[in-house]
Amino acid sequence: MELTKRQEAILDIVKKEGPITGEQIAERLNLTRATLRPDMAILTMSGMLEARPRVGYYYSGKKPGRVLAEKLHRILVGDVKSVPVVVSEQCTIYDAVVTMFIEDVGTMFVVREGGFLEGVISRKDLLKTTLGGQDIHKLPVGVIMTRMPNIIYAEPDESVWEAARKLIMHEVDALPVVRPVNNENGAADLEVIGRLSKTNVTRLFVELGEGND
Ligand code: ADP
Repeated sequence: MELTKRQEAILDIVKKEGPITGEQIAERLNLTRATLRPDMAILTMSGMLEARPRVGYYYSGKKPGRVLAEKLHRILVGDVKSVPVVVSEQCTIYDAVVTMFIEDVGTMFVVREGGFLEGVISRKDLLKTTLGGQDIHKLPVGVIMTRMPNIIYAEPDESVWEAARKLIMHEVDALPVVRPVNNENGAADLEVIGRLSKTNVTRLFVELGEGND
């Protein structure tokens, strides 16, 4: 983050004299408090300065990059995930394509009874099948899906940053968000409770850029 000369000057004053009130900073710079207001907002929003009511501003000692990273690591998959769109393994390719259009998603998860993760089906998986000349009204998605244990997934309490890294590293568009549970046979299984897609990450990026919190 690039600071203006005035913002650098404010930081210097607060580093040396903090805690210091907005009034006092304005005096040091021979400016009005109103003129300083946007700069103070930027410096506190970025986390470089902290403001305490009735005490004033003080320097947090954090570099802007560090502040952003800390913020990103605190946002969890569970905070931004969407509702999952699921089909069963017996669902035909035709029905899967229709569901994809109706639900307006690019990735669907294949689950068995109880919502346990079995596979993932993407746009290109479906397109590829239509090129093969097979009967899309008969062929079930179970035949073409990417299957467990090869599914990359996320859990609700991991950071969005970690999940976004998985999207990039594994070159996929979405991750099922799962909760590890014991299935009806007492064995470890994954229950699908959400979807984290590139759109979720992009939306978060836009919201962070608006700087409202
Ligand atoms: P597209 O088909 O639009 O390129 P992806 O890049 O997400 O979508 O999918 C590429 C391949 O990876 C597909 O074969 C799909 O089944 C598989 N895939 C998609 N998401 C995952 C995931 N979370 N884990 C493992 N494989 C996945």
